[in-house]
Amino acid sequence: MKLPRFCLNPRTLEFPPGRLWEIGFKGLTSNAYILWKTYGGKAVEMGVHSLLGFKGVILTDSGDSGAYQILRYGEVEVDPLEIARYQCEIGSDVAVILDVPTGWDASRRKAEKTVEETVRRGKETLRHVRELYGGKQPLWVGPVQGGCHLDLVASAAKRMAELPFDVYALGSPTGVMESYRFDLLVEMIVAAKSGLPCEKPFHLFGAGHPAMFSLAVALGCDLFDSAAYAIYAKDGRYITEHGTIRIERLRFLSCPCPACRKTSLEDLKELPEKEKTFFLMEHNLYACFSEVEKVKQSLAEGRLWEHLEVRARGHPALLQALKILAKHWKYLEKHTPRWKSRGLLIFDELSLGRPEVQRVRETLVEASKCEKKILLLLPEPEVKPYTQDERYGKVARLLAELKLSEDVEVCFYNPVFGLTPASVCEVYPFSQFEAAKPYSEGMLRSMAEYLAEYVKTSGFEKAVLHPDPSLLGQEDAGKIGAVLTGWEADPWSGKALGNLRKTMASLKAERLTGL
Ligand SMILES: [Zn+2]
Repeated sequence: MKLPRFCLNPRTLEFPPGRLWEIGFKGLTSNAYILWKTYGGKAVEMGVHSLLGFKGVILTDSGDSGAYQILRYGEVEVDPLEIARYQCEIGSDVAVILDVPTGWDASRRKAEKTVEETVRRGKETLRHVRELYGGKQPLWVGPVQGGCHLDLVASAAKRMAELPFDVYALGSPTGVMESYRFDLLVEMIVAAKSGLPCEKPFHLFGAGHPAMFSLAVALGCDLFDSAAYAIYAKDGRYITEHGTIRIERLRFLSCPCPACRKTSLEDLKELPEKEKTFFLMEHNLYACFSEVEKVKQSLAEGRLWEHLEVRARGHPALLQALKILAKHWKYLEKHTPRWKSRGLLIFDELSLGRPEVQRVRETLVEASKCEKKILLLLPEPEVKPYTQDERYGKVARLLAELKLSEDVEVCFYNPVFGLTPASVCEVYPFSQFEAAKPYSEGMLRSMAEYLAEYVKTSGFEKAVLHPDPSLLGQEDAGKIGAVLTGWEADPWSGKALGNLRKTMASLKAERLTGL
């Protein structure tokens, strides 16, 4: 389930909820505190769906109302149990407890206090509404506090997980996103989600820019909401997939959304301010919705990581976040399928951080204890699977002639997986990838380090390296801890294969002498 919601200010209703539904949003987030202050008992009488004129899912957020206001304006005049009852009585579908937001840059002491108080309120609120309403209540959201203190976030998550919330959320992430600290956001979400049950949805408040949706989804956020479309619009900003453009700097309306198609840039600039803002809100919503659909399509195709890599290159702060996410590949790996219907697209060393690649690299090292005596490292040939390449055929015949086939484990080295054993080269994903060549320096370095580690830990009696100068420098090749067969520009030339035959023959002679 990936369901975006968009925040609506119920006091002004500046964007008609019915239009949200037409654009494609089947859920919206509104503000319990402002509903209460503005409509009081009228919302209870009418029900929040009739009041707002929206038939989809309505999430009422004490976080974005009560708690958000605590962050901005200090204490608000509302009791946590009273606002919880109000959310039940107006018929919210999903409701947020009135938590105490840590704020992302708060001191440890303050963070500890906010965690304690939020957990206490969580317990008290859930017990209270269960006693009063039994099964007739909304789904409850439990925000995980702790701010930038990641150990606190992790322990707060475990404590909140003990309470029967239906949905969990990261507490007070808005400041982190407003400050472009997406790297910290990654750490906070990983810390929170590590302590939460993976079968419960996770909500990210305030995620409103399409450039970061794929990051949020890759992190395991199932729901997100934001008022960014309106905030940007009021500031005269037009959302794109990569950033925002001020309306006066727009030279083209490049977006294909219905709002952009029904007007021209000239007419748009002539519009009165209020209509201009409405146009921007409508376009911004379409831009968000379109990106959500693209992310969902990439998920369906097994290409979310590729989509994320493209988006991350739209802003250095997002690229930084992706680098941090790659360090947490084990967190992602748990739920990454072992087989996909699409191959991996490898752009550069950042692509090596994806869980499918790291999983293979780690598994090969762990499973490297081999029955065979000699490890032969060949460069990757062109054709995939590598064993179908005629160049490998020549090596296989050479080993058969020397009666070494039984003793030699052939592995191909390549800068994506480090190496590919010939015996499994048809297994996903060893042959199911496309990589940009020439490989980047970072990828080549990473492969050389990996090969040295593999040779050291694999326990073969001998390792033989048939070098390819386009993949390995002489210095790096020397550090791998293997016998080199020679140094030829083309590793598949007659001369280079002659060198390989000589090396293998002399190893065989050595072994026979040894016997
Ligand atoms: Zn548009």
